[in-house]
Amino acid sequence: MAIAPAAQDIDVKYTQCFINGEWVDAASGKTFDTINPSTGEPICGVAEGQEEDINRAVAAARKAFDNSAWSRMSGAERGNLMYKLADLIEANIEELARLESLDNGKPYKDSRYVDIPLTIACYRYYAGWADKNHGKTIPINGPFFCYTRHEPVGVCAQIIPWNFPMLMQAWKWGPALAMGNSIILKPAEQTPLTALYVTQLAAEAGYPEGVINVVPGFGPGAGAPLAAHHDVDKVAFTGSTEVGHKIMETAAKTNLKRVTLELGGKSPNIVFADADMDAAVEGAFFALFFNQGQCCCAGSRLMVEQSIHSEFVDRLVKKAEERVVGDPFSDKTEQGPQVSEEQFDRVMGYIESGKKEGAEMRCGGTRVGERGYFISPTVFDNVKDDMTIAQEEIFGPVMSVMPFKDINEAVERSNRTTYGLAAAVWTKDIQKALKISNGVRAGTVWVNCYDVFDAAAPFGGFKRSGIGRELGEYALQNYTEVKTVTMKM
Ligand code: NAP
Ligand code: MG
Repeated sequence: MAIAPAAQDIDVKYTQCFINGEWVDAASGKTFDTINPSTGEPICGVAEGQEEDINRAVAAARKAFDNSAWSRMSGAERGNLMYKLADLIEANIEELARLESLDNGKPYKDSRYVDIPLTIACYRYYAGWADKNHGKTIPINGPFFCYTRHEPVGVCAQIIPWNFPMLMQAWKWGPALAMGNSIILKPAEQTPLTALYVTQLAAEAGYPEGVINVVPGFGPGAGAPLAAHHDVDKVAFTGSTEVGHKIMETAAKTNLKRVTLELGGKSPNIVFADADMDAAVEGAFFALFFNQGQCCCAGSRLMVEQSIHSEFVDRLVKKAEERVVGDPFSDKTEQGPQVSEEQFDRVMGYIESGKKEGAEMRCGGTRVGERGYFISPTVFDNVKDDMTIAQEEIFGPVMSVMPFKDINEAVERSNRTTYGLAAAVWTKDIQKALKISNGVRAGTVWVNCYDVFDAAAPFGGFKRSGIGRELGEYALQNYTEVKTVTMKM
């Protein structure tokens, strides 16, 4: 593994809006600072897109969608453009990884060896689909020839969060571009830099002008007018459930644009006494603490069978105390800062609430260092189902452990949440694994593993964790309309 280069060696190249194939300032001329969460210092100013910029980007996307350079391009050619984009990301992987860690705070080795390889794989996966999403011929009654076409939805708005900036961009761009849509992306205000860099690479790959537009800015200023725009055919959003509600409401009040949502979670991770103990301890720890605890599918309700509960928690606490928290660019670092001061305050607020409501804090709970947004890995034991930390998404390095007695109780309690994103079970007993997998109301269930992602495997939520599925063949449905053609013979 390469030694991580110093953060200060990073030269930020792209900070404007990208509209109709050109880098442009925001119409207002305004910029906002993106912050280095390791220090709290600004990295650089970035164009602050607002309604006027959104209007221009939507007009460019519409024009591109109607333009033959894109609408008549064959699926195979669209696939080739995406393969090229993937190759360019791979060629620039070191610089992109540095930029991601600088802007987001995640350890460089996670950016370099986890996020970006998954990003590249995602583009390659969807490049392969570009010429394979064909319709059907349907034998209907009478002298008719009936067939379906899977056509692109049109102009797609995509609003993404800051926890996996490059990967969330790939999950959105992959199926949308492979199916022939045009897009307007609004990256998160906290992490716009890699999205802009990848945009330049897409331009170099040869996407026709206007097919890809990127408008950095804030949720209310840029995201809201995008979700409300009457000429946007579809909006895809990943982020908080609260904003997910707003997006859907806005779509309903405007033009009934199609809506897909990937929202929060409070995912149960259930460990039985018969599990491989070493693997379960590792897996449960990773399920929560990976990415500074900033994962929508974090295993944030750790349910452990009573007979092993006490030993299990002792082992987790030991691991939490040994975890190396600090500079994302150090090779020893396992955990970087939270993404922003706002997130830091929010997580610290949840830690206070856990203490107040009577959960047993076994370790952590403090700021690490004097600057930046670092939080020590925190483990709460004996958390009750009705406590705030058992109900709300914390999105930080705070683990809640809850003992349970038997499998029926585990199933019933695991579903005591408004969310339904993911779940996991650790056991050697196939019957238990199946009972949990079938009984849990969640879009993904991992058995004796956690956070196993592959571009081919769909991901998304039941209940208030969202609408629709990303990744895999299923995601193509989000970006296509089915047209039925019936011809008299
Ligand atoms: P958020 O506000 O939902 O942000 C997600 C995206 O939506 C960002 O691009 C944001 O823009 C944009 N946005 C915000 N308000 C909007 C609006 N009214 N209309 C259109 N777009 C809007 O999430 P957050 O405030 O960054 O984080 C808060 C909590 O959300 C976290 O603590 C966590 O619980 C949850 N979250 C979940 C995920 C996930 O993967 N499901 C990811 C991130 C956060 P700006 O950021 O530029 O304002
Ligand atoms: Mg930032």
